[in-house]
Amino acid sequence: MSFFSYSFGCRVNEAEKEEIDCKMSLNGFRFDKNKPDIFIINSCSVTNKAEREARQLIYQTKKKLPEAKIVVTGCSATYWLKNNLYKDLPIDIIIDNVNKEYLVDLIKKRLNIENLASFHLGGGSGNFQNQNKFIDSGRLMVKIQDGCQRYCSFCIVPYLRGMPKSERIKSILSRISSYAKASEDKKNLGREVKEVIFTAINTEAFGYDTGETLIQLIQQTLTDSTVPRISFGSIHPWSINNEFINYYKNILPLKRLVNFFHVPIQSGSNKILNLMKRGYTREEMMEKLHKLHKINPLALIATDVIVGFLDETDKDFQDTYNFLKESPIDKFHVFRFSKRTKTAADYMEKRLNEPSVAEKTKRAAALIKLGKKKYFQFKQKNINRVSLTLFLQRSEEGFREALLDNQLPIWIADKGRSATSEVAETGKIKNVKIIEFKKGRLFGKIV
Ligand code: SF4
Repeated sequence: MSFFSYSFGCRVNEAEKEEIDCKMSLNGFRFDKNKPDIFIINSCSVTNKAEREARQLIYQTKKKLPEAKIVVTGCSATYWLKNNLYKDLPIDIIIDNVNKEYLVDLIKKRLNIENLASFHLGGGSGNFQNQNKFIDSGRLMVKIQDGCQRYCSFCIVPYLRGMPKSERIKSILSRISSYAKASEDKKNLGREVKEVIFTAINTEAFGYDTGETLIQLIQQTLTDSTVPRISFGSIHPWSINNEFINYYKNILPLKRLVNFFHVPIQSGSNKILNLMKRGYTREEMMEKLHKLHKINPLALIATDVIVGFLDETDKDFQDTYNFLKESPIDKFHVFRFSKRTKTAADYMEKRLNEPSVAEKTKRAAALIKLGKKKYFQFKQKNINRVSLTLFLQRSEEGFREALLDNQLPIWIADKGRSATSEVAETGKIKNVKIIEFKKGRLFGKIV
């Protein structure tokens, strides 16, 4: 029996999808992209649009694969179950976030599936690993935490994922080592774990329920595993405190924590941060980010920012613009505020003005332009240095894509294109010298 899975939304959803794929494979299901018997959708509900997209995929799948059983889980599924909104959809099984961890058992039970032949992680077209761009490059996403206690006014996540729940460090490490072991037997497939990407809904809440800390997680991964690269999908603003900054300074020489910090700030205006209920000020964030930057000016700091939030005036937007311009953040993901039903912002809208679509578009364009300029300049700063670099699967016109020690993409000539370079297999780590910056892309050679 075969399956296919698709994930919308955040890195946590993507990590969950990997886990689902892995568990389905271990339970004997075969991965089939083209004609699966079971089609699993891990939905997102962060905006009304995300929910619409999940509905569209359900209808499209039903039309394209009328025989396939459609299984829907994730945040939209949870929202639909809570509000009884799924009855008209052609869904065979709907599973909320609370029961997601039992997804495979629920599928087997509801579809009366028993005793599938055990299928090992390994080669073959029926293995999901061959279809996953992260795993194929030796990058393993691991969910370390779920849920959130913050209740930012624009966000539906705490209502759908519940209060914070963390994985224990021991079980995180055992997941890494069991995956590494399964992959070791298949070394020729280039799937050893070369980078573990920790993902969380809110890193601040990691360990609230287990008494452990993020620093302990990093430390124990450094001491108890041999994974060469450790990175985070996002590090949330509240996790960047003096203790974390000092710890980063201490472990920097080890060169194992990837120098990339995606810190979703959302706004640089104190008024808007307050309306969003983010619990920090622009001044506090600026100070912390400068401290990080001082330790390692070549660490890439990225952010998410929302423009056009309720009551955002030109002056408030200018505060955000100036904040981003003056801060050491060099990569922005810009979002236009869109109201999500059943969030605090949905109710606040009754007394606060929402900027017009034209204003939001104009503000987003200004930030995108600034972001492009800063990212361009940051890339330039990397020229002539040598970095440990992870080779990815993607290649284009004789060049292979790789990731520097700060997650910047770089292109290396494959064998035959350059006498000085050699082919490095996907999933390998090599020292690379960054030699050129052309048309927005960095190019390097193995040294
Ligand atoms: S920190 Fe805020 S934005 Fe992030 S999940 Fe929690 S409530 Fe949502």
